[in-house]
Amino acid sequence: MSLITKLTFRNRLLHSSHTVKKRGYKVLAIETSCDDTCVSIIDRFSKDEPPNLLVNLKDTLNSAETGGIIPTKAHLHHQLKIGPLTKKALDISNNPKIDLICVTRGPGMPGSLSGGLDFAKGLSVAWNVPYVGVHHMLGHLLMPRMKNNGNLVKFPLLSLLASGGHTTLVYSSSVTEHEILCDSLDIAVGDSLDKCGREIGIQGNMIAKEMESFINSSVNEIDESILTENQKVTLPNPLKNKPKRMDTQAFSFAPFLTAVRNHLIKYPLVNYSEEDRRVLAFQIQEANFVHIITRVKTVIQLNENKLKNVESFVCSGGVSANKRLRHLLEVEFTDNFKQFHYPDLDLCSDNAAMIGWAGIELFESAALTTDLEVTPIRKWPLSELLLPSGWKR
Ligand code: AMP
Ligand code: ZN
Repeated sequence: MSLITKLTFRNRLLHSSHTVKKRGYKVLAIETSCDDTCVSIIDRFSKDEPPNLLVNLKDTLNSAETGGIIPTKAHLHHQLKIGPLTKKALDISNNPKIDLICVTRGPGMPGSLSGGLDFAKGLSVAWNVPYVGVHHMLGHLLMPRMKNNGNLVKFPLLSLLASGGHTTLVYSSSVTEHEILCDSLDIAVGDSLDKCGREIGIQGNMIAKEMESFINSSVNEIDESILTENQKVTLPNPLKNKPKRMDTQAFSFAPFLTAVRNHLIKYPLVNYSEEDRRVLAFQIQEANFVHIITRVKTVIQLNENKLKNVESFVCSGGVSANKRLRHLLEVEFTDNFKQFHYPDLDLCSDNAAMIGWAGIELFESAALTTDLEVTPIRKWPLSELLLPSGWKR
């Protein structure tokens, strides 16, 4: 880093209205939008180099028994865990002086969000440091930029955010400017995979992840002509024949669950061998991903002009960890994009590092922090990032 750049960065921090005093700074990040209590500590030692992720902790509510996340249980989980997990993160990193706090403000379950947001506001007051209330999906979207400090994954970007709560295709021209090109009309792809997977007897906290392992990476094609009646499940490609523009630029995953349930009424699961279930799992996963590919292809065609300068395709969110999805995207869109970017496997699903990094990007590129008088935001389209009250410049 040249001396001038060093001084400019230092001066900006020194002269900001906040109490961030050092050239580099340390960030405490908190994420509690759903069922994961997550805490990270990031050393932003220089603006010109990738940050150092010192600690990245996660404590997930166990919902394997309850068949889904119960909001009141998630709220209680965050209330119980956020204090000890933050203390642990600080202890592991030798109790550094924290200069900035980043916390998820929305979208998500209000009870869950308040578990982290209220705690972060308290620390911000006690330590007299600024905090940034971060958009959860912005965290997913910007995550692949962290590793190279924003120098490899450059704007404009097209991002497929595929998680348990969202399936969204976003065109981004900067850290704060986003346009939603395609969104789910009903449930998200992760939710669809989890629910369909549960129907065919797959268990766990992240059923879609278990389903990927269950399918076994060697299975990537099935000869339908040799399938038995119970093995062959008829799955739709939702919205395929819808002429309206609203439906053209949309995903829909709920019909997969209906189709799987109908199939299992006809052919009850008790009669299936493990191999039969594996064949079903493959078809379910494939149909969900083919739907994504079909819709993304259409949206790219409809937005040809806007997307002609986009070189990077980002896929992020829990489902982006799936190798089959990554493969299909790269094969199908190889002519449309020069580069494909994903977070590291352990940073695809919810984590606090992505909230820390997104907060750093908002703080550095737009000098944004958040007022103490804000509440969680349940629904918050990424295209309206700066619309809610409470941003401070
Ligand atoms: P998120 O909402 O971003 O935390 O992501 C969680 C969702 O991602 C859940 O629906 C998981 O089952 C799903 N998920 C995690 N890993 C995988 C994987 N390898 N393949 C498909 N889905 C996954
Ligand atoms: Zn998420």
